[in-house]
Amino acid sequence: MSDPNSSPADDQFFQVGKYQIKVVRNMCIGAATCVAVSPSTYKLDSDNKAVVQTAGTDTPENILMAAQSCPTRAIVVVDTETGKQVWP
Ligand code: SF4
Repeated sequence: MSDPNSSPADDQFFQVGKYQIKVVRNMCIGAATCVAVSPSTYKLDSDNKAVVQTAGTDTPENILMAAQSCPTRAIVVVDTETGKQVWP
């Protein structure tokens, strides 16, 4: 596995700015809407599943909008400060 962020076995949260984000891999259909909205935070791996990149430059609003744009609601977003899930 060349991509350290790609872990098909477990859906892992990644800290990105104020959010913790994970992609539920078995819900991701590779539609890439998230990649189109936040190209520095999400990318598709070799299995056509979205993975989270932690060093991106997208704004929190943009990152959340990307999650909300996912047709299968595969992206889970948690506010790190409050511990509350903000999406879905
Ligand atoms: S928008 Fe959803 S289904 Fe499409 S690649 Fe992103 S996480 Fe996967």
